[in-house]
Amino acid sequence: MASLFEEETTFFADLILPVPIPSLFTYRVPREMSGMIKVGARVIVQFGQKRVTTAVVAHIHSNPPSKYQAKYILELLDDEPIVTKRQLELFNWVSEYYLCNIGDVLNIALPAGLKITSQSRIQINPEFAHDDLLTDQERIVVDEIKKHQTLSYEEVERLLQRSNITAIIKSLVGKRAVILFEEVKERYKPKVVRKIRLNAAYTSNDALSKLAGSLDKTPKQQEILLKYLSYIPVYNNPDLNQKGLDKSIFSQDDNVSDASLNTLIKKGIFEQFEIFISRFDDIPASNAVITLTETQKIASQQIHELFTEKEVVLLHGITGSGKTEVYIELIKQVLESGLQVLFLLPEIALTTQIVVRLRKVFGDTMGIYHSKFSDNERVEVWKGILDGKFQFVVGVRSAVFLPFDNLGLIIVDEEHETSYKQHDPAPRYNARDVAVIMSYMHKGKTLLGSATPSLESYYHAQTGRYGFVEMKQRFGNAALPTFELIDTKKEKKSKKMKNEFSSVLIDHLKLNLQNKEQTILFQNRRGYSPYLQCEICNWIPECANCDVSLTYHMKAGEVRCHYCGHKEEVPRTCPQCGSTQVKTMGYGTEKIEDEIHSMFPEARVQRMDLDTTRAKNAYQQIISEFEEGGIDILVGTQMVSKGLDFDNVSIVGIFDADRMIHFPEFRASERAFQMLTQVSGRAGRRAEKPGKVLIQTSNPGQKLLEKIINNDYEGMYADEIEEREKFHYPPFTRLIKVTVKHVDEATSSKAAKILADKLTANLGASRVLGPQPPLVERVRNQFLFDILIKLEREKINFKAAKSFIQEKVIDILTDKTLKSIQVVIDVDCL
Ligand code: ADP
Ligand code: ZN
Ligand code: ZN
Repeated sequence: MASLFEEETTFFADLILPVPIPSLFTYRVPREMSGMIKVGARVIVQFGQKRVTTAVVAHIHSNPPSKYQAKYILELLDDEPIVTKRQLELFNWVSEYYLCNIGDVLNIALPAGLKITSQSRIQINPEFAHDDLLTDQERIVVDEIKKHQTLSYEEVERLLQRSNITAIIKSLVGKRAVILFEEVKERYKPKVVRKIRLNAAYTSNDALSKLAGSLDKTPKQQEILLKYLSYIPVYNNPDLNQKGLDKSIFSQDDNVSDASLNTLIKKGIFEQFEIFISRFDDIPASNAVITLTETQKIASQQIHELFTEKEVVLLHGITGSGKTEVYIELIKQVLESGLQVLFLLPEIALTTQIVVRLRKVFGDTMGIYHSKFSDNERVEVWKGILDGKFQFVVGVRSAVFLPFDNLGLIIVDEEHETSYKQHDPAPRYNARDVAVIMSYMHKGKTLLGSATPSLESYYHAQTGRYGFVEMKQRFGNAALPTFELIDTKKEKKSKKMKNEFSSVLIDHLKLNLQNKEQTILFQNRRGYSPYLQCEICNWIPECANCDVSLTYHMKAGEVRCHYCGHKEEVPRTCPQCGSTQVKTMGYGTEKIEDEIHSMFPEARVQRMDLDTTRAKNAYQQIISEFEEGGIDILVGTQMVSKGLDFDNVSIVGIFDADRMIHFPEFRASERAFQMLTQVSGRAGRRAEKPGKVLIQTSNPGQKLLEKIINNDYEGMYADEIEEREKFHYPPFTRLIKVTVKHVDEATSSKAAKILADKLTANLGASRVLGPQPPLVERVRNQFLFDILIKLEREKINFKAAKSFIQEKVIDILTDKTLKSIQVVIDVDCL
């Protein structure tokens, strides 16, 4: 019953802007938009003086804002929501739980390509072919972009001499003529490979012989043909021709002239073609049937049964037990019931083997969401989920923000991994914990999996909050590796150590090389040596911006700060006393690699750490090369431990275990156990090749080492949980870290003190620790002070305590005497 009166109603929309601002903003819906605008759709609005930005509709209502005059929404970008109701609910939860702005959440969630802002740049879509679809104005824009490669939003405004160009841009995007991206470096470029192949008419044996004969007089051309056939043996096998050969093989060969090849192409003997390659294109879905082992079957059934009563199940399966196969089985079942599945992996594990395995099973119905992917690929996954193409997504932590509306299952593999936690910027969320809340919202289930669960998850499993399933057998009768503890003190006394290497380790390396088996050497510290020191006056080079010594990188000839990236040339002489005796102290992966080279010059050595894996595919390339046997010894940081599955690794050597165990941090034991168990787990994964792990330590009697070599997670847990309870640490408490930052030390210290006092007054001295400077007291020229707040799980109203903390932080931030102070709140800090 529409009445005149109702038609007069003015609508308003509360919008989430992808900016760090605590509240929603209310804008006015233009009359012509009012019938179409939906919650979850994107709109374009003016924000501030000059800025145009994308926002997402959170509510539609008819109440004008009381404190300001609402501006009009400029454009509606979507007919259908691109953010689902469930997502909005989740964004809200994340912003409340982690004490951050909902705009921060949206900003992390939305791929840049879905955020049209005045900072956006526009480029031609390389797949664009339909010029004829464009309007005159659009054509002007497209021609101009072609001239300049890319244009900014403002340049297009100037070009067309109008200020509202979003409609045009949107239309161009819709016609797949252009692509938007945030930064020039992220420009979308599909990988193209130029190939050649024989014209199909020449692929029969008969035709080939004739062709070869006919080229007798042009030996250069004949040679090209023969070269092609040497790579692609088309004789007796004409089907091989289809895939062709990379053209670059000829252009890199000095004996082949481009002219001869081009003549062959012109004559129609060869044809040239291009293929777009994506990282996973080569992996066809296969129907290879995997039969679960008895252990896996039982685990799978138990998980199933537990899900009828528990929201979350923890799967504790030792390394090599085949957790992936159990996951695959579950994923299939859930997909069959028509629900969505999200599979979370730590950042680094996602680029490799496991994705290949999943891809084989699920083919291109599986979306992959990775931070090293281009923004365009991320937009494709986002849209693919909305339109149902991807019911199953495997992704890194930020994949929890994708537009799911019907999740049946979230799997969090390697749930103990710290990379699930985002440290900077806000939202400082832990994707594992968000996953649990998220499946609760979707009425789905969460499966956490690990060989070395986090103490938190194991505790929840022990106390019955989570279901618990174990797999204690490695697949295929492979045994866990055996361990040997090497006493470096003893070796040093008897002068058997060669730099960082014990004689025992050297002997094993030698033998392993002879046997043509592979070795992994683990040192969780990159660079050549952690610092340099003058032997005469003890001077140590330190970062100018941070309170930390500079790490020596030999290959680069530099000393670098691992906190702010500051670099300097290596000092030749000591600036303090002029001595030339500046020596390296301690050691990192680069030094280990270097020493291996000089001890075993014939060995093929590769290093894997942050420094060698910066390029997009570098990590994957090293892994493949190692898999294919092209590397004898792989030296690396914790990167070498991430869920990798190798056939031929029989020795794992671990340096400097003591440093990990004695790290001054309450989680040190748990972390050391996890890291050493995980890296050890790379050895002996096939029954026919038992593995051995050598741990170098100055104190082989340490309790934790005993737990590690006996694969005694339960024992480690029992010791650790007792400590945690005694000293009020998680899982018995929740930790919130408040960090105060300022360029002036006194101001920073004073503010932290005031804040700590305010917090203590209400929460009590036993719950508020600090303020104290962190391990590295100054980072990027700012002095840091940490306040650690411990809140008992059962006793304290967490929500109320958090809003109290937030209030006090706002007091400090708005205190006029403490100008430009910064405060970071990290809820559930690690
Ligand atoms: P985890 O993740 O538990 O360390 P993986 O899932 O990587 O172990 O499995 C270890 C190895 O055993 C892999 O190479 C995997 O392909 C193989 N595997 C596990 N279960 C089976 C099975 N049921 N059938 C065939 N191969 C299996
Ligand atoms: Zn000196
Ligand atoms: Zn620095």
